[in-house]
Amino acid sequence: MGIRLSISVVDRKLLWGRSANRCAWPACNQRLALNLLNPEADILRDHGAVIGEEAHIRSARQIGPRYDPQYPREKLDTYGNLVLLCPTHHAIVDKDEGAAWPTDAVENLKATHERAVDEATSATDLAVRDLEELLVAQIANWEIKARLATWRAMTSHLNNVYPQLRQDEADGLFELGAWLLERRWPDGYPRIVYAFENFRQVLTCLLELIGRSFEAKGQIFELPREHKRIGWNASLYTELISDFNVKANVVWLLTMELTRAANLIISAVAAELDPLYRLTEGYVLLQDGDAFWGIELSRLQHPTPKPDSVPQVYSLQALIDRTRVELDGGDPRSEPDIDLYAVDVSEWARPTD
Ligand SMILES: [Zn+2]
Ligand SMILES: [Zn+2]
Repeated sequence: MGIRLSISVVDRKLLWGRSANRCAWPACNQRLALNLLNPEADILRDHGAVIGEEAHIRSARQIGPRYDPQYPREKLDTYGNLVLLCPTHHAIVDKDEGAAWPTDAVENLKATHERAVDEATSATDLAVRDLEELLVAQIANWEIKARLATWRAMTSHLNNVYPQLRQDEADGLFELGAWLLERRWPDGYPRIVYAFENFRQVLTCLLELIGRSFEAKGQIFELPREHKRIGWNASLYTELISDFNVKANVVWLLTMELTRAANLIISAVAAELDPLYRLTEGYVLLQDGDAFWGIELSRLQHPTPKPDSVPQVYSLQALIDRTRVELDGGDPRSEPDIDLYAVDVSEWARPTD
């Protein structure tokens, strides 16, 4: 087993970076290629590249090498329990269930190799490595703060006919916005930096709308239906129901655009940092009620930005104005629907001044 899909972007960066992509066996020093899964790995192997093995120090299997029942299961695939080896030395270390290679011997092997790498690496390159480690840690933090694991649930609330968010989801999004604002991104990763800034701009626009228009109702934040709160007044009713409909459409558009922005980050990280990034989890998808909006994934992907372009500011007012025009004033009873997928949200939200 060469690569493990269960290894996170952080652990893979630490493992490969700190061993300088080389086998940890003393004096082997074999430079290892990242296993990109078949068929790429086969092609690299055919051309003589040695594919790196992300070997467990303590096996996950009870009968495996150096199995330790005390070791926490959630740490099995982390950097602390992995050592990078060529296939030959992986086989030696694991021979007879690791009989000749107890845990501390393998840990020693790894530590000695990493120390040698550090000594052979210039201060500048070490600084670059530190920045990359910080960058992958920020990406992992973004995944948590943006709740990518429960993205479908969160978007299903925003995509409700009556847009809403749970209190904790709203708090989480505001915290994410503040966190993104404070981030500093290293040079050398233009697509990743662009993608994060673009995500922040879309999120800022959505949060502005939530902050300005949503109301707390118990543990729920929702777009209030003010047209339900008035006595009989035909023109005021039309004004309020139109306003609600315009804002609801803007929430749906921004939810779709934020999903695209998240997917742009995912493809940028795969392009610039880790080709295996989210290979098993993939892109994030939207949910609308019981149905996926994201069946057609291509509609949730952002076009790759042109080199050197700068993410634009999303103007909430511009987006509201344009949506109102497209909805013919916004009265839902007069039925001019928007094909949400077909909208270029960044164009509609382009600041007018
Ligand atoms: Zn092994
Ligand atoms: Zn080796």
